[in-house]
Amino acid sequence: MTDAHDALIDVLVVGAGPAGLAAARAAASHGAQVALVDLQARAGGQVWRPDVQRGIAPGLHRALAELERGVPVQWHLATQAFASAPGRLLIEQEQGLHELRYRSLVLATGARELLLPFPGWTLPGASGAGALQALVKQGWPIAGRRVLVAGSGPLLLAAAATLRAHGAQVLAICEQAPAASVRGFAVRLWRWPAKLAQAAALRTRLAGVPYRCGAWVRAAYGERKVSEVEIETARGLERIACDQLAVGYGLVPNLELARQLGCATVPHGRHAAVRVDARQATSVAGVYAAGEACGIGGIDCARIEGAIAGHHAAGFDDAARALYPRRQRARGFAALLPAHFTVRDEVRACATADTLVCRCEDVPLARLQGWADARAAKLATRCGMGSCQGRICGAALAELNAYPVSSDSAAGASLMRPPLFPTRLAELAQAGFSPADASASVASTSIASQGSTS
Ligand SMILES: Cc1cc2nc3c(=O)[nH]c(=O)nc-3n(C[C@H](O)[C@H](O)[C@H](O)COP(=O)(O)OP(=O)(O)OC[C@H]3O[C@@H](n4cnc5c(N)ncnc54)[C@H](O)[C@@H]3O)c2cc1C
Repeated sequence: MTDAHDALIDVLVVGAGPAGLAAARAAASHGAQVALVDLQARAGGQVWRPDVQRGIAPGLHRALAELERGVPVQWHLATQAFASAPGRLLIEQEQGLHELRYRSLVLATGARELLLPFPGWTLPGASGAGALQALVKQGWPIAGRRVLVAGSGPLLLAAAATLRAHGAQVLAICEQAPAASVRGFAVRLWRWPAKLAQAAALRTRLAGVPYRCGAWVRAAYGERKVSEVEIETARGLERIACDQLAVGYGLVPNLELARQLGCATVPHGRHAAVRVDARQATSVAGVYAAGEACGIGGIDCARIEGAIAGHHAAGFDDAARALYPRRQRARGFAALLPAHFTVRDEVRACATADTLVCRCEDVPLARLQGWADARAAKLATRCGMGSCQGRICGAALAELNAYPVSSDSAAGASLMRPPLFPTRLAELAQAGFSPADASASVASTSIASQGSTS
């Protein structure tokens, strides 16, 4: 490891999305030494991912400008935090492994899309809705292609609008929630005028695109890639020819780092979120969390929670407390999402016995049934042992209720041993890192004792 990052950091923030940027800005505004780590090459997180056509989102532009006004922040982009222990974070960069030492840590690790298996979901041309949006923003050619967007939640509109702006022919948006539920969501939006304006703007950008409630994907078909999709509606089954299928069922919090540190979690639908108190403090001393990692709440929630966490992490409690009322309002919006976009049982029942659930290790649903718990299923089938490390199939199985993720479950914890991401063996060897002593309970000593070797 190098000496470059040896100084003790006052506030270390993991995640440079809206929550992490707000946390860094709040802490730096008090003169704290702040470092930001993100695995993306550019700041912005999911919602502010730079777009090759549109450039930097105005919100990101403002957030970065505000950040520049404080004490200079140490940036570590294109950097994955892959192991952690109280007071220490192990990161991997192109140049190698480094250890960062901190007084306070803010976890702003965001969320990922919930993908649910159905026959044909592994065909080329089928992807997550947010995933396709991200690809297109980064230059994936979509102009002229016929895209069906499906799944659940407001993200479908945002994804469809991006695809259309890049020239895709969006055939329809199929929302699995019933029309009454979606209407109930829409009428409650008046309490959050900014959200209402955002929804109206998206609908305008999507003028002419059918928005079909109570419709969901049953199966996708095609020889070498998706060419046709079967959807189920109140009127029965229907087939739609398309070039691309983008399906997502909302978001699930990214908990890997929090769990590795031993932070307690709380149930979040069929998934889990980091448990925080009013200070955004987790159950581990000196570790705070903010944004979607604490439960899916959208960008406003992420920014306010990030600021609260940053102020507290820097020791400026009064500045943080002044923001509490705004957080309460933002979390009110968050509560609307599960109430109106609950995944229906028919969607969960789409996967058949031979549908692959773990696409990294080619494990079909039938092989995953009948084990005592997720760990037993994993050991017997290799489900969750591929490159996604259970991020996709683990959430899918929890949603299908095959192996529920309870808060702080041993099953969940068993997936959280370092390294959290596939990491180069040569780097691990050089750093003296041994997976054998890498478990949540021993990480606190093992990382510390691995020390610097270069
Ligand atoms: C694919 C996708 C697309 C979305 N698109 C939209 C949209 O168009 N409009 C909208 O309003 N909302 C969108 N959302 C919702 C959006 O995530 C939130 O509203 C908002 O971005 C949450 O902010 P956050 O800071 O909590 O998390 P995020 O923005 O997700 O930021 C978390 C950051 O943490 C980083 N990170 C996580 N773990 C590690 C690690 N171990 N090491 C290093 N870095 C790490 C990630 O790279 C990421 O940049 C999208 C979500 C997803 C998953």
